[in-house]
Amino acid sequence: MHKISDMVNTGKLLTSDGAWGTYLFKKGLVSGSCPEEWNLTHSDDVFDIAKSYVIAGSDIISTNSFGSNIFKLSQYNLQQKLAEICQTAAEISRKAAGADKIVMASIGPTGKFLIMGDVTSEDLYNSFKQQAIAFEKGGADAVCIETFYALDEAEQAIKAVKENTSLEVICTFTFDYSESGYKTLMGVSPQKMAESLIAYGADIIGANCGSGFEDMVEIVRLIREVSQKLPIMIQANAGLPIFENDKLVYSETPEKIKEIIPKLIDAGSNIIGGCCGTTPEHIKVISEIVNRYNQ
Ligand SMILES: [Zn+2]
Repeated sequence: MHKISDMVNTGKLLTSDGAWGTYLFKKGLVSGSCPEEWNLTHSDDVFDIAKSYVIAGSDIISTNSFGSNIFKLSQYNLQQKLAEICQTAAEISRKAAGADKIVMASIGPTGKFLIMGDVTSEDLYNSFKQQAIAFEKGGADAVCIETFYALDEAEQAIKAVKENTSLEVICTFTFDYSESGYKTLMGVSPQKMAESLIAYGADIIGANCGSGFEDMVEIVRLIREVSQKLPIMIQANAGLPIFENDKLVYSETPEKIKEIIPKLIDAGSNIIGGCCGTTPEHIKVISEIVNRYNQ
């Protein structure tokens, strides 16, 4: 099994992959249907996405499993298929990645809030545990607990993966800029996130989604105030989306991020990829820059 942190600790920078959601819609997913069900019904399309990122130069390939928790799957009456959906997600990405690349299974937030009494910690833990066990069975090397905003939910996710599998744990939060600086939906700063996730036992921390690559430079600096050593992963959106002729357009084009990626590396990022709106073309640009630094 590959360990991302071992590779990073030798001084290597790594490229992860780009958007999955945006890509699935391009392939015909209609809103209101379950993206993760495509692992069972449209596995060739899911494979194509993974493969296109492998070809673009990703060292780390994600999986189509962002919403594969009990709570989200229940909305589609697919909760009984959780293990099958998660295991297949990892298998498809493994098939595309081959033995040499890293498969990193995606775990998104449940949408439930502990603070509101929606669910108990145990409910969250059990859902994350089932996902993680299935990912490991399907051949994943790591999980990426991503787009999180609440520390208590992240704690359950990290614990569930650590206590039930030997998968490496990456955890990345999503920050927005406000008058009080960069904060998640639940008011967590990058520094507070870093302190807490390290205490929960995450192997790699960072940020994803948000308002684009440019803003991530400062977020990386803030995380580095807390930890100089822990590997940092950044998977940014291609800027904030704007509507142009009824179509969502992202402002940070592959050409534009060429000048931002070196700044992200200089600030202390070790693994760089994309989130919403990023494409294999973005990943190709990132991978070329990363490879130049690795020489
Ligand atoms: Zn995103």
